[in-house]
Amino acid sequence: MSDPIAARVDELRKELTHHNHRYYVLDDPIISDGEYDRLMEELRGIEAEHPALLTPDSPTQRVGAAPAEGFTQVQHRRPMLSLGNAFDLEGMEAWHRRVSGLLDGASFPMACELKIDGLAVSLIYRDGKLVQGATRGDGTTGEDVTQNLRTVRSIPLELMGEPPPYLEVRGEVYMPLESFRRLNEQRAERGELLYANPRNSGAGTIRNLDSRVTADRNMQIWVYSLIDAGDHPVPDNHWESLEWLKSLGFRVNPNNRLCQSIEEVEEYYQSWLEGRHGLGYEADGVVVKVNPFGYQDSLGIVGREPRWAIAYKFPAERATTRLLDIGINVGRTGSLNPYAMLEPVVVSGATVRNASLHNEEDINRKDIRIGDWVVVERAGDVIPQVVAPIVERRTGAEKIFAMPEHCPICETEVVKDDDDAMHRCPNPSCPAQFFELLKHFVSRGAMDIEGLGERWCGILIEEGLVKDLADLYSLRQDQLLELERMGDILAAKIIANIEESKQRSLPRLLFALGIFHVGSEVAELLCQRYSSLGALMDAPASELTEIAGIGPKIAESIVSYFAVDANRAVIDKLREAGVDPQHEVVIPTADEMPWSGLTFVVTGTLSSMTRRDAEGRIKLLGGAATSSVTRKTRYLVAGASAGSKLATAERLGTEVLDEDAFLRLLENPSDAVLEPELPLAP
Ligand code: NAD
Repeated sequence: MSDPIAARVDELRKELTHHNHRYYVLDDPIISDGEYDRLMEELRGIEAEHPALLTPDSPTQRVGAAPAEGFTQVQHRRPMLSLGNAFDLEGMEAWHRRVSGLLDGASFPMACELKIDGLAVSLIYRDGKLVQGATRGDGTTGEDVTQNLRTVRSIPLELMGEPPPYLEVRGEVYMPLESFRRLNEQRAERGELLYANPRNSGAGTIRNLDSRVTADRNMQIWVYSLIDAGDHPVPDNHWESLEWLKSLGFRVNPNNRLCQSIEEVEEYYQSWLEGRHGLGYEADGVVVKVNPFGYQDSLGIVGREPRWAIAYKFPAERATTRLLDIGINVGRTGSLNPYAMLEPVVVSGATVRNASLHNEEDINRKDIRIGDWVVVERAGDVIPQVVAPIVERRTGAEKIFAMPEHCPICETEVVKDDDDAMHRCPNPSCPAQFFELLKHFVSRGAMDIEGLGERWCGILIEEGLVKDLADLYSLRQDQLLELERMGDILAAKIIANIEESKQRSLPRLLFALGIFHVGSEVAELLCQRYSSLGALMDAPASELTEIAGIGPKIAESIVSYFAVDANRAVIDKLREAGVDPQHEVVIPTADEMPWSGLTFVVTGTLSSMTRRDAEGRIKLLGGAATSSVTRKTRYLVAGASAGSKLATAERLGTEVLDEDAFLRLLENPSDAVLEPELPLAP
């Protein structure tokens, strides 16, 4: 082919067809949706400019892919379509103008719905009974997955109310994030390959030839359109038709909204841009539909997309890029933290260059190699993550990563304990560790020394002005002024702020010291018992663990911190410099300890907290938490999958609280009573 444009079209079609097969047939895509959308946009652009190149079999003209072997085929009576996309407000406004134009300027309400990232299915009911469930397939011919769909509990097998003799509805079947997480955890435990995302694992689940697999995975459905009710009278608009479907027992998304203007649509979209992270399932945009059926009919369909609806997509949260190298940061506690150095890529509007890789074990488990193409994900504010390598794109030149044997900063030999996932540099005066510690010490939640940002922390260490934390308090303004680019005002401000930080409370100081396992909450707990650094310094582990919420691991870490001479010397120096907050320890009265004398046992899995936390909360209220159920046990708190302890409690007649009841009791601790009420004598 000599024409370069025709050659590019050919290439794009081949590529898109390949990715369609991976995505729709194998449920195992190897490029991100964003990348796929870009290829598709490029092809659309060329076809629009060169209509002669447009052919009916172009991927721009067809949805999905042909049904897979192994399933009975289903001919859809009405085609299952795709949706046009808009990626910004401008695109939405253009769509709205186009539709208004086609409707001769008539105004029209629009139904806004979340665009669920799952698998489209068609459900057919005869006389109120589910008779067929099918996938979209290529839009005309789908796969019969009735058996599998019967296992989805929110798909009614029989309708309520007065169903019509014939009914076809469509909706999206999806895997809730919680089920997805659990599924991948189980797969990781069994050493199986992990699914890339809930959409593909959900689609794979519904298209599994063994319906027992589907039944196991807690799939769900949102129904979003009425397709055909035969001659039965139906509402004349989409919104009311959904209400009707709801009354027949279908699961219709409560987050749908009927909007009157494009401004309202934008408001809806903006509210879900962040809000979607709390949904418990994935939504990749908002679907906007012209509400009156009459208008939908006159607008019609072009190619594979109805003119009366559009998908207003959320920015992509995943992207694919190259892993150029794996770097190592040395953290505050000496941990060697590997991170991915990426070829820059845009993920949900931000350019990502680095991403977290957790630890060596995680890199090995995911089999991430240097030089790999990788999937990068960015969710909300969290640090971008490398989700998985794309094994199919390997060339053989990729390199397997190994942790360095020496600290990349101070060259000390690295240690790795069996029960610790991290490799660590054991040298407490490693400059990298001290730099991280100093940054943490001056940070907002800690000593809050404004003006001393990351850059100045680095310079103070480099210039030898600060060798330990206490050195900060002997810094003089004239020393600061000698530093390049330090001005009078900033120097004065830093000195004043350092002075002012002497007033910080004891919990803040404890947190600032960067003791392993002592975060701000643990610091607060410690201060319930200790009134000063001096009082805490010599506390034995056995005394520390008496505090609710402090376990042996934390206690051990505190004791070993204060056992290091260098640490004690810094503390002494700090105290001499006037950094020595004291406070009064208030011993709670009996009123504040409503559960004193009550013994609890916690068993099973709680969804809102760990067992340890639950025991901590009990101790905080004065109760005792023990491990076996006896006649002395007042309450057994039983989470999911409680076993023998629950059986013992039932045998002994011990009062059992489920998680909800326990949470209620935590809110109203005085509702707990010492003795259970005795049943009235007959
Ligand atoms: P689409 O997923 O962008 O939109 C159409 C679909 O939206 C419908 O079929 C329906 O299933 C779904 N939907 C969800 N909620 C809905 C609601 N409330 N109302 C109506 N419909 C709703 O289009 P598509 O043709 O199914 O797939 C194209 C997209 O799939 C691409 O944009 C890309 O993101 C992805 N894809 C990715 C690859 C890859 O290799 N990564 C390959 C093929 C497709």
